[in-house]
Amino acid sequence: MSGAAPARLLGAGDVRAIAARIGVRPAKRLGQNFVVEPGTVRQIAALAGPFAPNDVILEIGPGLGSLTLALLEAAAPAPAARVVAVEIDPVLAAELPKTIADRAPGLADRVSVLRADALTLTAGPGPEAPLIHPQVIAANLPYNVAVPVVLRLLAVFPSLRSGVVMVQAEVADRMCAGPGSRVYGVPSAKLAWHAQARPAGTVPRTVFWPVPNVDSKLVAFTRHDPPVAAASRTEVFSVIDAAFGQRRKTLRAALSTWAGSPDAAERIVRAAGVSPGARGESLEIAEFARIAQAKASLAEGRLQ
Ligand code: SAM
Repeated sequence: MSGAAPARLLGAGDVRAIAARIGVRPAKRLGQNFVVEPGTVRQIAALAGPFAPNDVILEIGPGLGSLTLALLEAAAPAPAARVVAVEIDPVLAAELPKTIADRAPGLADRVSVLRADALTLTAGPGPEAPLIHPQVIAANLPYNVAVPVVLRLLAVFPSLRSGVVMVQAEVADRMCAGPGSRVYGVPSAKLAWHAQARPAGTVPRTVFWPVPNVDSKLVAFTRHDPPVAAASRTEVFSVIDAAFGQRRKTLRAALSTWAGSPDAAERIVRAAGVSPGARGESLEIAEFARIAQAKASLAEGRLQ
């Protein structure tokens, strides 16, 4: 490649001009707040990298392409690294290849745009085939589905090793919270099953068009092995849902329906080495996993 910049990022005027040309009026329903500040998308791309040769970077909700261009720029030094961008809005999905061809012509063959709902992605085969082995997620997520999208992608794509997502500030705090924190809850515990999440910065609302009425934060995560337990993810997640379903209740009470009765809940929780008087808010993910395992073991008569 010559010394020319590999990608010309989008500024506020560019974003508005493309939107006006294709007749897009940002839809709140789809969380369409587009980044108009190149420094922000460069920061996200830098946090998501450095990228290795052949890496597949999965971007959810590329919109008009602000972050896609920054990801391409950051991935340019890694031979054959590429971006797969999944966009639900057909008008935006159709326009993105043209924007890339115009603003990053030397890298246009490193992008695939898929018109799809991130909440229904599977590991293929099918139209999702290029996604089969994504290594990294990078996204400015639609806020109303941010947590389900991240959990689904981690569940569906075992190849994912890390990610950086921009989400509503309160959601970021929940994703990164640990036991005992006021905001520790279902998203924190389920994400902890898959990955170690950490805060990665605050983003002022002025970088978006239109300006949202919430603040944003970045969350970075790195996949780790789930806790060692003979229970499946689904079984562990049902304990988490039950434990937080009735906030501020002890496990004996909160898990009674899940276990069959308060006494059964107490027996299972004790067998897992956890106090039945504890609350879900204080439990590590490994303890949720042990409770799920204890239920299965008691049912099979392997524990007294
Ligand atoms: N990445 C762009 C940026 O930073 O300017 C746009 C981010 S905007 C917050 C969220 C994008 O996600 C929108 O383009 C919206 O159409 C898209 N989107 C919303 N729900 C989606 C879904 N379920 N699957 C895929 N894309 C979705």
